[in-house]
Amino acid sequence: MSSAQAATSEPRRYQLFIDGKFVDAESGKTFQTPNPATGETLAEVAEADKADIDKAVAAARRAFEGKWAKVSARERGRMLYKLAQLIESNAKQLAELETADNGKPIRESLYIDVPATAENFEYFAGWATKIEGETIPVPGQFFNYTLREPVGVCGQIIPWNFPLLMAAWKLAPALAAGNTVVLKPAEQTPTTALELAKLIQEAGFPDGVVNVVPGYGETAGAALASHAGIDKIAFTGSTEVGKTIARAAADNLTKVSLELGGKAPNIVFADADIDQAVNGAMMGIFYNQGQVCCAGSRLFLDERVKDEFLDRFKAKAEKIKVGDPMDKQTLMGPQVSAEQLDRIKSYVTIAREEGATVLTGGGAPAALDEKFRRGYFFTPTIFSDVQNRMRVAQEEIFGPVTSVITFKDEDDLIRQANETIYGLSAGIWTRDVRRAHRFAREIKAGTVWINTFNMMNAASPFGGYKQSGYGREMGRHALEMYTQVKSVWVDLSGKPIGWYGQ
Ligand code: NAP
Ligand code: MG
Repeated sequence: MSSAQAATSEPRRYQLFIDGKFVDAESGKTFQTPNPATGETLAEVAEADKADIDKAVAAARRAFEGKWAKVSARERGRMLYKLAQLIESNAKQLAELETADNGKPIRESLYIDVPATAENFEYFAGWATKIEGETIPVPGQFFNYTLREPVGVCGQIIPWNFPLLMAAWKLAPALAAGNTVVLKPAEQTPTTALELAKLIQEAGFPDGVVNVVPGYGETAGAALASHAGIDKIAFTGSTEVGKTIARAAADNLTKVSLELGGKAPNIVFADADIDQAVNGAMMGIFYNQGQVCCAGSRLFLDERVKDEFLDRFKAKAEKIKVGDPMDKQTLMGPQVSAEQLDRIKSYVTIAREEGATVLTGGGAPAALDEKFRRGYFFTPTIFSDVQNRMRVAQEEIFGPVTSVITFKDEDDLIRQANETIYGLSAGIWTRDVRRAHRFAREIKAGTVWINTFNMMNAASPFGGYKQSGYGREMGRHALEMYTQVKSVWVDLSGKPIGWYGQ
């Protein structure tokens, strides 16, 4: 791949990656992925279906029981580390392709997505040699210890909002622990996972250890989730599809981990550093065009600072440069697809019907270059006068749209902040240390940010409370999802057990 290629309008072609080879779909079918900035076709991609999923699962099983089982932990770690280095040396091309397929600004793909992808592989490379069992001090004549073993063949289904990074969150701990994988990227953004497959091959992973099978959720995704040949399914995406996955997995009692939606409260108290809090609100909702599961989409403002805060927030939101995502000055590119754009627009109508005010945004940006007229652009949007029970405060919009809700005091705030089916993350802006830590205990969310927002690291666990899912990705906790524990009992005495020797 050359960087010039990523920018041209000549469609690229991609095949499925199964058993170490790039192959066409059994059906011969393909689908197109557009560049959301222009609406033009970026790539023509082989479309996996049940037959291809069967092939990929069989390849992953052979690898799990064959070559991969013989690879030492040290070697697994070295391969993961090499993969991290290959990602870094291909950073520019990967970032440009990520931006061309997803629409996110190049400054995000280049400085956040791709480095964080490499970081995740590097972090889990270190874990490969540190996965250990324990000895248990049981009573009597026995020696008891545990073995921590890989789960087996893992199906992994990922969304389009962070295509490469979501692949890394899923693949890195699975491979560090010795599993094999069938990965299904989202239909909207299949290309970078297939470029990653090339690097996986170059890093020396045996054939079949990683298989990448783009296709549609209802066909390829459903075939993977319900497959009797997989031992675990890991999913990131909407809460609705997460429930479908859990139901499909239930038939085979396949182990499941789910990273689902959110409606995070981002809270500003009157004693906060207001400039910092405004920046935090921007980061919370406009980063990645708001297509972030932990986006700060409910902005709770202390009644006493509401007007001052909104003046500054609105002024800054209106200055955001929306446009060509390949331009390093651009802060917001297009939404990922026409469907997502329509969905976001529908919430503007809903907000008005519910009695909220569209303080700014709510439509297409003016004055875009001719080339971008067919792109899926939307302006930074603030709904004010929102009540927490309104749909715009309860449903995941997944766009650059925040709902402003006011509160009177801490009790009022906590009650409202927890009034949601979701529990992925939450942010608080205050100078009061006691209040900040009280909040961290009382909020029902998997991640809490104090005077910051959207911070993450490969070493720190991430996942949901309530309907935001179960299981934790990243950090040592991720290894728990990709290993299982075996308890081994040894008799040290030679004495008969119980009374059977009498
Ligand atoms: P989605 O349907 O949940 O898609 C996520 C992944 O699941 C994709 O790979 C998708 O495949 C696959 N999938 C869809 N239906 C499936 C099924 N029945 N069985 C197995 N896999 C299936 O999300 P979306 O439709 O792209 O977006 C809709 C909404 O989901 C968004 O507006 C947002 O609210 C939420 N969302 C949340 C996250 C998150 O990180 N929590 C990420 C994305 C979207 P295809 O894309 O190929 O169909
Ligand atoms: Mg695309």
